[in-house]
Amino acid sequence: MPLRPEREAPPTAGLPLRWSDLRGTAPAPLTALAANWLGVGQVQLECSGTAALTIALCTLSEHARSRREVVIPAFTCPLVPLAIRRAGLVPRLVDLKAGHFDMDAERLAAACNEHTLAVVPTHLGGRLADVATANAIAHGVGARTIEDAAQSLGARVGESFAGTVGDVGFYSLAAGKGLSIFEGGLLVARDDSWHERFQRTSRRMSRWHPGWEIRRMLELAGYATFYRPHGLGFAYGRPLRGALRRGDLLAAAGEHFNADFPMHRVSRWRDAVGARAFTRLPDFIATTTAQAKKRLPMLDTLPGVTVFRDDGGTWPYLMLMLPDEATRDAVLARLWPSRYGVARMFVHALPDYDYLGTMPGGDDVPNARDFAARTLTITNSPWLDDEAFGEVLGAIEAIVTR
Ligand SMILES: *Cc1c(COP(=O)(O)O)cnc(C)c1O
Repeated sequence: MPLRPEREAPPTAGLPLRWSDLRGTAPAPLTALAANWLGVGQVQLECSGTAALTIALCTLSEHARSRREVVIPAFTCPLVPLAIRRAGLVPRLVDLKAGHFDMDAERLAAACNEHTLAVVPTHLGGRLADVATANAIAHGVGARTIEDAAQSLGARVGESFAGTVGDVGFYSLAAGKGLSIFEGGLLVARDDSWHERFQRTSRRMSRWHPGWEIRRMLELAGYATFYRPHGLGFAYGRPLRGALRRGDLLAAAGEHFNADFPMHRVSRWRDAVGARAFTRLPDFIATTTAQAKKRLPMLDTLPGVTVFRDDGGTWPYLMLMLPDEATRDAVLARLWPSRYGVARMFVHALPDYDYLGTMPGGDDVPNARDFAARTLTITNSPWLDDEAFGEVLGAIEAIVTR
């Protein structure tokens, strides 16, 4: 490896942009298209998933001033606790179920009380978390749920879309997370009366900021240019391999996050780019779902390896759990620097990011640490063709059977 040195697969199956997305008229605003598809009254566009979560939290907390804690899984995107703090609130960590990415229900119930503002059930990589249980526990103590569907736009929980089952939900439109406008977020609520309040908070917190928006417009043009099999080696692979050589895992995974993340309005141009690409999203989800369904049985032949799956989810990548950390690390040493789109989800459990500091609940999260230590992801981008996928499979098999 690598057999095709001129090509590079992205770590997740992002919907590729076309040049024609960058100009011309859009069928409707992105928010209108998304609301219609998701079957919700309204969708709000913010400049990131993190910004959308921050707007939701600030709004909820205005209506429940004595509730200061937000309960989250101990393994999730580090931007989530940063958003909670930005809203002036305290992240409380809950350990995962053993060998799973979802929160342990008993521990979740124990973490919730009259101080809880919200619980954040989190779908990862299109795999579905148990939102119904989170709803029951949160509502039982007078709190609400904010469904983190950042990585799961288009996933379905029964008849509903993930993100619309909790009281509030949000999606990320960041580079590589399905539909992308380079950075963006969509905010939804089950009860339409929240929308006006979210909009009021947004007018206050997310103002027009030409510097940030012009930067994002240029980055989106760069994304359209380089998010192609022949462009990713330069834009993604080269810096990735540099970071791995330096031993900077956070840089390799793109996790050097800043507490001072921007909050600003998204331009009509980026909205329109997203809207034009959005019309291809359902077909892209169908294609990537079919590819994943074909490849899951092949991964099932790997001894001691668990492959996460469910009905209704989306498939940006295939999520694998290896028998132990040493085996997982041996696979990553071989495949993370390759061009085959193998990566880690998040490098650490949340208490192990130095820049996050301490958080209540963080002293007892063995399952989250175990999950961080044993998992890896294989891209489900169509650019990893069957032959290249076979090589990934062979490389993993050679390591797990030795
Ligand atoms: C990426 C991500 C976020 C944050 O979304 P951004 O659009 O990058 O701000 C939140 N939660 C999860 C699980 C994520 O993967």
